[in-house]
Amino acid sequence: MNNNFVAPPRRLQWVTARITGVIDETPRVRTLVLDVTDWPGHKAGQHVDVRLTAEDGYQAQRSYSLASAPGSGKLELTVEMLPDGEVSSYLAGDARVGDTFEMRGPIGGYFVWSEALDGPLFLVGGGSGIVPLMAMLRQRAASASRTPATLLYSSRSIADIIYRAELERLAADGSGLTVVHTLTREMPAGWSGERRRIDLAMLEQTAFAPAVSPRIFICGPTPLVESAARGLRDLGHAAQRIKTERFGPSGK
Ligand SMILES: Cc1cc2nc3c(=O)[nH]c(=O)nc-3n(C[C@H](O)[C@H](O)[C@H](O)COP(=O)(O)OP(=O)(O)OC[C@H]3O[C@@H](n4cnc5c(N)ncnc54)[C@H](O)[C@@H]3O)c2cc1C
Repeated sequence: MNNNFVAPPRRLQWVTARITGVIDETPRVRTLVLDVTDWPGHKAGQHVDVRLTAEDGYQAQRSYSLASAPGSGKLELTVEMLPDGEVSSYLAGDARVGDTFEMRGPIGGYFVWSEALDGPLFLVGGGSGIVPLMAMLRQRAASASRTPATLLYSSRSIADIIYRAELERLAADGSGLTVVHTLTREMPAGWSGERRRIDLAMLEQTAFAPAVSPRIFICGPTPLVESAARGLRDLGHAAQRIKTERFGPSGK
């Protein structure tokens, strides 16, 4: 027997997460409120790995961002149900209060924000890519930060906007947050917001000037992330101020 065995760090150990609440965010998106014994805390932008095991032993593992603000005492994931999605169809569909699954984390030290960082905050999100960005906005609000912030958020339709009411509240609290929505598929009558995919002109109109060195976080489907990052670099933003996270497809 090897007496030199060293236990893996806490964040790499699988632990049991119990669902204590379920919140319907949109027709295809749910937030799961979780209870994990001795959760070590997390930073805004980090994610966890979730592992599901079928009765026959088959396992599937995916990553999910932490939606809740660090220090809020809450542990929440927000999951979009994808057609035929192996893991998301359970988490955003069949999962019930009292169910348990395996989870490990928090993971990631790159795509993270805290109020201690300098520079205005420019967030670009598409679909469920809003989740880690929302953790950052919740952290900003919880810390009473006045860091100027803008969120540019692309959704298919108004019904698909995740956290819509909370975003409206945060944008109206006088702390210096601007939220710009763009809808790509269906616009309600009288919609006065943007009505196309995020493009260079939209980035130029909404982003802070490169001269003020904003911290930029972009998250969502791979094509959105890549084109927004390229556009912002073309507008003169330094590559090292632009952080990206691609949500899929997973290829697993
Ligand atoms: C760091 C990280 C954080 C993430 N955080 C979140 C989160 O907070 N909320 C969330 O809902 N998802 C998040 N994702 C995506 C998530 O990990 C899964 O990829 C997603 O839930 C699909 O898994 P699935 O098993 O349901 O689908 P699969 O069975 O893997 O795939 C089903 C079908 O959907 C396609 N597909 C797979 N993933 C995506 C995708 N993301 N977008 C579009 N099509 C896809 C596949 O090509 C396939 O056709 C995150 C991904 C990463 C890498």
